[in-house]
Amino acid sequence: MVTRSGVLMMDRPELPTVKAWCNWSGAHVHDFVRFESPGSIEQVSQAVQGCRRDGLTLRCAGSAHSFNPFWTDDVILSLDNMQGLLSVDPPNNTAKIQAGTKIHKLGPLLWSAGLSLPQQGDIDRQGLAGALSTGTHGTGITLPSMPNSIIGLTLVTAQGDTLVISETENSELLDYAKISMGMLGVIVDVTLKLKPAFYLHENNWQGDWSECVACRENLVASNKHFEFFWAPNTDIFSFKTLNRTDHVAQRMSSSEYIAPAYEVFPSDRPAKFNEMEYAVPYEQGWRCFCELRELFLRKFPRLPWPIEYRTMAADELPLSTAYQREVVTLSVHQGAERSYHEVFDAAETIFRKYGGRPHWGKVHSLKKNELSSMYPQYAAFCRVREHLDPQGVFINAFLAELFV
Ligand SMILES: Cc1cc2nc3c(=O)[nH]c(=O)nc-3n(C[C@H](O)[C@H](O)[C@H](O)COP(=O)(O)OP(=O)(O)OC[C@H]3O[C@@H](n4cnc5c(N)ncnc54)[C@H](O)[C@@H]3O)c2cc1C
Repeated sequence: MVTRSGVLMMDRPELPTVKAWCNWSGAHVHDFVRFESPGSIEQVSQAVQGCRRDGLTLRCAGSAHSFNPFWTDDVILSLDNMQGLLSVDPPNNTAKIQAGTKIHKLGPLLWSAGLSLPQQGDIDRQGLAGALSTGTHGTGITLPSMPNSIIGLTLVTAQGDTLVISETENSELLDYAKISMGMLGVIVDVTLKLKPAFYLHENNWQGDWSECVACRENLVASNKHFEFFWAPNTDIFSFKTLNRTDHVAQRMSSSEYIAPAYEVFPSDRPAKFNEMEYAVPYEQGWRCFCELRELFLRKFPRLPWPIEYRTMAADELPLSTAYQREVVTLSVHQGAERSYHEVFDAAETIFRKYGGRPHWGKVHSLKKNELSSMYPQYAAFCRVREHLDPQGVFINAFLAELFV
């Protein structure tokens, strides 16, 4: 048994040519016949062409930190051998990066070049293309999700061709490709618009319901990044703010410190869980949280896993959960060793009542009919997908129910 990029791979002695792997949480185990780790665009192209010729499905894997069954029983392709900076342009705050680069490796590389990602999620274990492709986000009412930083990318299409997509080349495809879950092709590199390197000041404290009621709106408005966690079993609120600062790195206390942004954004999440997250219109966010809290106090009062409350700016990406609306994102968790269905099913009913759209990388039960009414650009995305991959090389059973 070996661990690879957070993914468990093991030989299946009863099926010599078939191996199995599972995602980070262990909820989804996939048999696969071939695992490809190309080291060049040419090798990616050969892998795609081979699948197309043999009628096999190919699914890309980043770090398999998604909670959905994105993979396949045919071919899994990892870009772990395609990592690193290809070029940087500090005056314009841009960098061209190999798509397999792990975010935790990217941070120091960009810092050395005087650059920072404007926004990151709660962890940095993801592959860059994997994080971008599901719309990974952090928190901050003025900040959109990570794929909004993309200004160009290179795809290997279902035909095995290389397709450059940027603001000047094939630009009509750019917004569709930014959040596309590997359905338009294999992303081999991305060019990002970044920020000059910056430090973040993190502050953490705990409070109660009345503090959250009184201060929440102000904390959202007056901090670059604000979020809170609330756990049913304690009824305690854990607040967290991050703000850019010109001060140098220092630790003021166990709950307050300043460090380079790439060190402050991510947290350690050693305990494994499954997660469901929906983005609801900002003005519905608090009422949605209150209804979830009432439900959890009534039905799951001993649950130790928190509800997380974050915000995100509106954008124009067709498959963004924040498409044309500011949102509150609310996520619920359950330990990986327990069944999550009871908790998540109950929460999902509330999320949907408040007009929520599900995070693409996290558990949800929606299918094509529901999704098509949530996303005004859904049909246009499906047309682009069909045009680029009519044979469905990049479509597995899970995605077929959502997009085909
Ligand atoms: C502990 C934990 C914390 C998390 N915190 C956050 C958070 O704060 N905010 C948030 O928004 N999300 C969060 N997530 C979700 C996570 O960011 C996403 O699920 C992300 O997609 C995982 O990245 P990955 O590299 O593991 O991609 P994978 O899960 O491996 O893949 C995700 C998708 O991207 C596709 N893909 C991967 N590489 C390529 C490529 N080269 N070309 C084309 N398609 C590709 C895959 O086929 C798949 O459809 C968290 C997940 C975990 C486990």
